[in-house]
Amino acid sequence: MAQVLKGNVVAKEIKENIKRDVEKLLEENKVPTLAIVRLGSNPGDISYEKSIIKNCDGVGIKSKVYERDVNISTEDLVDLIEELNNDSSISGILVFRPLPKHIDEEVIRNTVSPKKDVDCMHPWNLEKIFEGDISGFAPATPMAAMEILRYYDVPLEGKNVVVVNRSMVVGKPLTMMLLNKNATVTICHSRTQDLHNVTNKADVVIVALGKAKFFDEKYFNENSVVIDVGVSEDEEGKISGDVHYDKVEPMVSMITPVPGGVGSVTTSILLRQVVQACKNN
Ligand code: NAP
Repeated sequence: MAQVLKGNVVAKEIKENIKRDVEKLLEENKVPTLAIVRLGSNPGDISYEKSIIKNCDGVGIKSKVYERDVNISTEDLVDLIEELNNDSSISGILVFRPLPKHIDEEVIRNTVSPKKDVDCMHPWNLEKIFEGDISGFAPATPMAAMEILRYYDVPLEGKNVVVVNRSMVVGKPLTMMLLNKNATVTICHSRTQDLHNVTNKADVVIVALGKAKFFDEKYFNENSVVIDVGVSEDEEGKISGDVHYDKVEPMVSMITPVPGGVGSVTTSILLRQVVQACKNN
């Protein structure tokens, strides 16, 4: 039986620290405030928004929603973001993605002020991750995976870590964060041959495919630490990770559940960055 690396305790610890920081900021009359920019009323976005607002309320962060028509032009969205950049009452800006296809995402990414870019959209913040500079804002999902590894004291220095994902939101920034901890990192992707022969020799395997129950026993060994970032629906329509949990959990050393693992830490990372932005500004 593996040690189950639950995300809720990690999120609780982060939120306790946030609450203390918010109290100090309020004493200085600074109110950490998150601007949420939502285009249209996609049910997924609405439910994510409700969860963020509830989480903000829970730690004393103010949130303001800026809902705009899904057909808004790139120019009008740029105007809104510039207004928020110049509004001293706003600490951080979160623009829900994916953006509608007609919006020029690159223009939007470059418009959000790097100082308010709590969702790490701006290339400057991503660049900082690649330079090993911790002064910027990190993408929430890879940072959540790192926080789980930290909380549960998983050693990284000199260890072999395999990341199965090479996207700019997960795999590449995560690899840089792991390198900063002196891990030896291998990145795998859809063209990797004999994937199981790479993953089953690693000390830590972090997977983010978005393919429910893809990884079974042959991908791991009895000492594997397994971090499952994937979220998708299995054949029965239930939320599942990339790992076949029932088969893999009995044979590895540590594993994150889905739901209840990495996903439950990501929002607290976002909140921490709102507080950081408020301190910086
Ligand atoms: P993505 O851009 O589609 O990336 C998927 C990655 O998996 C790609 O690098 C792809 O390789 C690789 N891949 C696909 N099939 C493969 C295979 N058979 N063998 C090896 N590699 C394979 O997706 P993403 O945006 O990074 O997200 C990935 C997953 O993370 C999704 O399930 C998403 O829901 C989840 N996610 C979770 C959170 C959270 O908070 N927990 C947040 C964000 C995303 P190629 O590059 O060669 O195509």
